[in-house]
Amino acid sequence: MSAEQVPAQPIAWPDNFKAAASFTFDVDAESAVLFAAPGSEHRAGVMSHQSYGPLTGVPRLLDMLDRVGVRSTFFVPGYTAMRYPTMVRNIAAAGHEIAHHGYMHETLEGVDEATERKYLQRGLDALRDTADVVPVGYRAPMWEPSYATPGILADSNFLYDSTLMDADYPYELYVDDNRSIVEIPIQWALDDWEQYCFIPDVSGVGLIESPTKVIEMWRLEYEALRAVGGCFVLTNHPFLSGRASRAHALEGFIKDVVSDSSTWVAALDDIALHVRSLGLTPRRLTRPEVDPEYR
Ligand SMILES: [Zn+2]
Repeated sequence: MSAEQVPAQPIAWPDNFKAAASFTFDVDAESAVLFAAPGSEHRAGVMSHQSYGPLTGVPRLLDMLDRVGVRSTFFVPGYTAMRYPTMVRNIAAAGHEIAHHGYMHETLEGVDEATERKYLQRGLDALRDTADVVPVGYRAPMWEPSYATPGILADSNFLYDSTLMDADYPYELYVDDNRSIVEIPIQWALDDWEQYCFIPDVSGVGLIESPTKVIEMWRLEYEALRAVGGCFVLTNHPFLSGRASRAHALEGFIKDVVSDSSTWVAALDDIALHVRSLGLTPRRLTRPEVDPEYR
């Protein structure tokens, strides 16, 4: 067996804050459906459901973030950037962070390393060509990274990843004896996809929940993570949470978090820079080894 993994430890937050919170957005638009369900480009209804994000959701959410005074991180697949370059430039112009989220929202499960590097480069090219952005952050599409992902990100000089789920605190993720990347963990319970995503033939059961119930869930998690000095990272998709009632409910929740003087509300690049400044000992992510005899 490989060396035993150790848990991530609580970290010090800047300015005597007790905890941190980040409100992030994955701007999948059409890309996630086009990759998961080839041929979907011929489904005008489904495509229009996805384009609601860049066309209506993002402008509404940018206005909302401006009102509450929060800087966010937007993970933008390259295909989304190429199809909606004005939207990407508007996000950047509003002062938010643009981060990498694949090109066509490709899942990395079972993908060889050369292909993964190709996807990463396509996404980098698209963000550079559309918005003149060189991202420092990455989140794997479908939240499905490979064990090669940290090394591939380090080779391209990324500062951080925000895809893994094994901790309440950010940490340094070991790449090799000379390199690490910052990991800022997420969780499916803090994602609006599982609450709101109904796409016929694509999204499984696709329940559509009440924003009141959704915000209650997120608030409970926020309050409990704050109590242990954790890092609360929420993910919303503009094609889902850009809808009026959901954006309105989200605004109320963000306002409450912003008014909580014990919590540092920041974009992920600022959180990652803070973590990097702490000089933490990197943790290793080790793949379970399975003896074929026990399958
Ligand atoms: Zn996504």
